[in-house]
Amino acid sequence: MPPEDESARRELLRFVRRGARDGVLRGTFGNVSVRLDDRLLITPTASDYLRLRVGDLSLVGLDGTVLAGRPSSELALHLAIYRRLPYAMAVWHDHAAFAVSAALVADDVPIYTGEGHGLIGASLPVAQYRPAGSEILAEEAADLLATREASACLLRNHGLCAVGRNLMEAYSCAIAADEAAHHYLLTRGMAPRELSRDEAERIRRSFADYRMH
Ligand SMILES: [Zn+2]
Repeated sequence: MPPEDESARRELLRFVRRGARDGVLRGTFGNVSVRLDDRLLITPTASDYLRLRVGDLSLVGLDGTVLAGRPSSELALHLAIYRRLPYAMAVWHDHAAFAVSAALVADDVPIYTGEGHGLIGASLPVAQYRPAGSEILAEEAADLLATREASACLLRNHGLCAVGRNLMEAYSCAIAADEAAHHYLLTRGMAPRELSRDEAERIRRSFADYRMH
């Protein structure tokens, strides 16, 4: 295994364990990948996140050819995002409870905080229900991220996906998306104040180095 692959594997495991400790990767739900030139490293199907080892990760070509291991059943989602968004170097997908809950009741989740605007965009889009692991879900989610210029979206009756130029960004966007969903659920029907358009725009500009769009 080339040294750069070994270090990418170790970093991916670090983030996966962090997601498990932070409670967003529970059971065997969710999957995470990082791009290495024209290949990606992805968590295997039915992962026990706290017991994963570097050799368990799966290596897949961006054309979908499995080079090693047994990739997550939601590989198509990761491939579609890397193909559609050239800046994407990491993709995070989980079934965080607030994200799933908001995706049941909203078509578009408003964002009320500065970090939410900075990390995700003007709002958090929701992809309509499609079967998990399907090509159509993958294509629609990737299209939503691209056309809405958002770094995260919710998947109806399922979870969320987030994208970044590295694992830290993708993970931060996933957490910000779950928090935005939580804020929405807590304040739904209560006329919450939104940031002014100017302030939201100022914050988005200040995150320009951090955001991809
Ligand atoms: Zn899933």
